[in-house]
Amino acid sequence: MRLAIQQLTEEPGCDHNQKKTAEQKKEACKKPTPGATAGGCAFDGAQIVLLPVADVAHIIHGPITCCGQSYNNRGTRTTAGNLHQYGMTTDMSELDIVFGGEKKLKASVRHVAAKFKPKAIFIYSTCVTAMTGEDIHTVAKEMTEELGMQVIPVDSPGFSGSKNLGNKFAGNALFEHVIGTKEPESIPMFPINLIGEYNIAGELYQVQPLFDELGITLFSKMTGNAAYEELCHAHRSKLSVVICSRALISIARQLDEKYGIPYFEGSFYGMGETKRTLMSIAEQMGSDLLKRKVEELTARKEKETYERLAPYLPKMKGKKVLVYTGGVKSWSVLKQLEEMGMEVIKSSTRKSTEEDIARILNYFEGNEDGLMPKGDGKTLLKYMKEYDADLFLAGGRNMYNAMKGQVPFVDVNQERHFAFAGYEGSVVLAQKICATLESPVFQLVKKPAPWEVSFG
Ligand code: SF4
Repeated sequence: MRLAIQQLTEEPGCDHNQKKTAEQKKEACKKPTPGATAGGCAFDGAQIVLLPVADVAHIIHGPITCCGQSYNNRGTRTTAGNLHQYGMTTDMSELDIVFGGEKKLKASVRHVAAKFKPKAIFIYSTCVTAMTGEDIHTVAKEMTEELGMQVIPVDSPGFSGSKNLGNKFAGNALFEHVIGTKEPESIPMFPINLIGEYNIAGELYQVQPLFDELGITLFSKMTGNAAYEELCHAHRSKLSVVICSRALISIARQLDEKYGIPYFEGSFYGMGETKRTLMSIAEQMGSDLLKRKVEELTARKEKETYERLAPYLPKMKGKKVLVYTGGVKSWSVLKQLEEMGMEVIKSSTRKSTEEDIARILNYFEGNEDGLMPKGDGKTLLKYMKEYDADLFLAGGRNMYNAMKGQVPFVDVNQERHFAFAGYEGSVVLAQKICATLESPVFQLVKKPAPWEVSFG
């Protein structure tokens, strides 16, 4: 396990690692530090990646509280099943900790297999079961033989690091136990893997029609709206498109190394990025026909989208936005806002990779004042006030900072209820921004309270 953690934190696929010397590469990208699990532990991160696979059962081997950590906390949508909505856990008690919980885990696997008849079962280790030395690998092997169904161990003790490390644990489990275990009946002309897209609030549904129109097949989606079977077929795709580089670049790299499938990083936030991503796919496929189709489709969609945005653009023009998000969104959302005529004051870098930071810097034309490495409430309120922000774009946990700053707020993180991807997503984002900017409550809260007027 220790070796696995070290390997996962030395991801050679990251751009910044490719530039390192052999000696520097021995150092982990980001070593786990005390408090790293405060924004979600490694177990939570593993579930973020795997829970969207809804035709398999997810059994958490640990206390029931671990289940609450990740259960239903992201609005992932799927048409593949509903097992992701069940919180399945062995609910380890003190007695199980003393006498061992492997029997209980086996009983749980048998029960779930008989009751739900899933396509496979993922079993997750947590802090408690990792510390007491529960051997989920042996249990998974025995259960696979007994049930004739794939039972997959996911090493994911929360104490080992952050959510991001947990994403990598999940990627490791997929690569070791799922990808390449079955062969597809047929392979379409342009099959791709879409990696790191979790269909939050239905974002995949906003971009799927673009792929359908172009004749590109999302052969294996990791893992938004994914069925178990398609994950097994990922090794037969021609290309991998990585949506969030920090999380699952390890899978893309391993697919490249083992099966020769090239990969690149793309994004569907904003019209420009959507076009760039689709065009890169066409280029990598080496098809002039596909390139022409992308040109035509994106030109038509941009025209339609600007027509739909017309009522909103004047309301957003020149408005100042403070952005606090992470990963791919920390730079691609900036471009999306720019397309709508808004001005970004600062963007957070706390959860960004070096490549993400380089892209944010590029947006600010090299001016480091645009970077916001810290994101505590005091800092955010300071910037809201100092720059007289018109809008705050962040995750739901920051809503209260927006309230304190009396600044309109839009939730762009994983708990959001609205999807902002592709052309359709730009219109939805504009609608949400205008709705919050125009909310009468912000005029009201900025006025003096009645008692302040009456009594001076
Ligand atoms: S795995 Fe560990 S850190 Fe994560 S929820 Fe469970 S006990 Fe907490």
